[in-house]
Order: sequence, then structure tokens, then C-alpha cells
Amino acid sequence: MMPNIAQRLLNVQKKIAVSASNSGRSADEVQLLAVSKTQPASKLAEAFHAGQTAFGENYLQEAREKQEALKDLPIQWHFIGPIQSNKTREIAEHFDWVHSVDRLKIASRLSQQRPAHLPPLNICLQINIDNEPTKAGATLEELPHLMDAVHALPQLNLRGLMAIPAKRDNFREQISVFEEIRNTLNRIKLSNPTLRTQAQINTLSMGMSDDMEAAIAAGATIVRVGSAIFGPRQ
Ligand SMILES: *Cc1c(COP(=O)(O)O)cnc(C)c1O
Repeated sequence: MMPNIAQRLLNVQKKIAVSASNSGRSADEVQLLAVSKTQPASKLAEAFHAGQTAFGENYLQEAREKQEALKDLPIQWHFIGPIQSNKTREIAEHFDWVHSVDRLKIASRLSQQRPAHLPPLNICLQINIDNEPTKAGATLEELPHLMDAVHALPQLNLRGLMAIPAKRDNFREQISVFEEIRNTLNRIKLSNPTLRTQAQINTLSMGMSDDMEAAIAAGATIVRVGSAIFGPRQ
């Protein structure tokens, strides 16, 4: 029989606990973000009732429909997909976190458009760690200035970095690219007198269904997991 969402979720939670413990970390240093793109609202509700409270969505229209359908559940919503300028207002109004900010123009709009009655929007800057021409994300060269500028925006709360490295089959190589991301965050923080004192800039959003163990070994604080929870996407 196919495992149900509650069983899959439990397996992922166990994997997180084992990976954390193997590297001397506590499981509650690692937040599980359930990536629910293409999944119907009913499956999110199923995961929610099995204890999952944070969900990540890639497409605004699809996300808004699910938010409407699930508005009675206290879900923490994360936006993790590509962001066009004309979508920033709705994202600023309806999400708690955004992981996919890679340029200042988008960050400025999110800050301007974040409603005043809501807490500042939590932001991770996406880094294109392998310099892949087709992939989103700031370059290593752009990142120091981008972090500094985004931290200064009033309605945003800069929290750290997000990355989607190119696929590596070998566990050692997976760990090594995730360590590079962690070192990048630490290095930029230490080199900037304003950023270095900001304890809340400590988020490493990295690791998905296939490489979450390596990401946790390298210091991930949020893993973004889709298919391991919901099964293969259609
Ligand atoms: C789809 C997606 C994930 C989850 O991928 P799985 O392999 O299904 O775990 C994580 N992060 C981002 C940005 C995604 O688009």
C-alpha cells in the first residue's frame, strides 16, 4: 500500500532527527518546510492535521487559492518561487517568509508593499551557488551589497540565504556545496559591521527530498521538502 501523508511526514521527521543527531545538532534547529506546489488544498490540510504547520509554494495564483481554501488553519506560508515585479504586492500581503529574493528591486517593492499591521516580512536571499546560467539567484559577487541593502529595508527582516545547488550524487560533494553556502553567509556577516551583530540572520534554507541529510550535516536550518512528504508530483 502507498504510505499516506502522515506516514511520509513521520519518516521525514525521523530523517531530520537522525541527520541532526549524527552531526551533533538538535532536531529543533531544523525547521521542516513542506513544499506543496501542485498539491491540492486537501493534501495540505492532511499534512496540517498530521502536525505540519509551514508550507512552501512556488506559484502565486495557485498559492492564493489554497490560502483561501485553508484560511481557517494557522498555517505559516513561505513563498519559494520566482518573483515578477507585478506580483510583489500580493506576496507582501499574504506570506510570512520569502526565500527567493535575488535582487534589490524586488526587495524594495516587498518592503514598500508590506502592510504596516503585519510584522516585517522574513527574507532569505537566493544565491546561485553553482553559477548556473539558467538558474535564479544572486551571484557571490552581488551578495555582500544585496545583503547590506536588504537589511536596511524597514518592512523586511533579513534572515539568511536560500540555495538550490546543482544535483550531486555523492554525499561528500553534497555536503561540500552546502558548507560553501554556510561559509558564504558567515563570511559576509563577519565582513560587515552592521550585519555581524544581527543574530537573526542565521537561516540556511537548503536541502530538498534528495539531499536533506547532507544539508543538515552542513548546517541547514530550514529544509524544503516536497515529494518525500506528498509523493511524486503530477
Ligand atoms: C519543488 C521545490 C522543492 C522541493 O523539492 P522536492 O525534491 O520535491 O523535495 C524545494 N525547493 C524549491 C525551491 C522547490 O521549487
